Amino acid sequence: MGLNKQSGNMYPFVTHTWNPIRGRCPHQCTYCYMKKFRVGNLRLEEKEFTTNLGNSNFIFIGSSTDMWAADVPNEWIRKVLEYTKKYNNTYLFQTKNPIRFLKFLSYFKENYILGVTLETNRDYNITKAPEPVERWMEFMQLNKYGIRKMVSIEPVMDFDSRDFLCMLQDIKPEFVSIGADSKNNNLTEPPSKKIKELIYHLKGFTKVIMKKNLNRLMK
Ligand code: SF4
Repeated sequence: MGLNKQSGNMYPFVTHTWNPIRGRCPHQCTYCYMKKFRVGNLRLEEKEFTTNLGNSNFIFIGSSTDMWAADVPNEWIRKVLEYTKKYNNTYLFQTKNPIRFLKFLSYFKENYILGVTLETNRDYNITKAPEPVERWMEFMQLNKYGIRKMVSIEPVMDFDSRDFLCMLQDIKPEFVSIGADSKNNNLTEPPSKKIKELIYHLKGFTKVIMKKNLNRLMK
């Protein structure tokens, strides 16, 4: 599979994705775009460690399964991180289980961005991953290490405006990306007024990237 050029609903700033850890994601989110594919068991793809990751790319590593899920062995993650050090790129890692980041702090230099997904502040019981407030508390532990951080609010779900905004502000993210469900998963979505207000306030302390799929909810 190797390095894949950015396509589809991927972040506009990402040039490539790379998935050396593959298979059925333990988090099993009800809205997961991967659930329609037969992906097999969770595994480390040894053949990926001959991939040329190039130079000056912006690579999202782990876009098809959450490589930071509790079931993923430390050795697999360490092997991926060691490999990234051989190439001069910017790397994005994103998870719904940010407590795992804390075990690998020594790897996260200037060219590494760590992300957490917070679709909302509420617990809608739509995933086996830690609930949003738990993710937030875990991710906040990175604040004292000066690591670059981002938040993905996608697919955005209805939230408590004040609480959610405070959570996002506390994280001190370099940027926030916000997008909507694009697969008709029948999620509880916020009205456009609420989203617009959230974006307005977010812009007061961080950069906001709006995904194209958010347009449906902004009318
Ligand atoms: S964490 Fe991501 S990859 Fe894993 S099930 Fe949820 S949406 Fe899918």
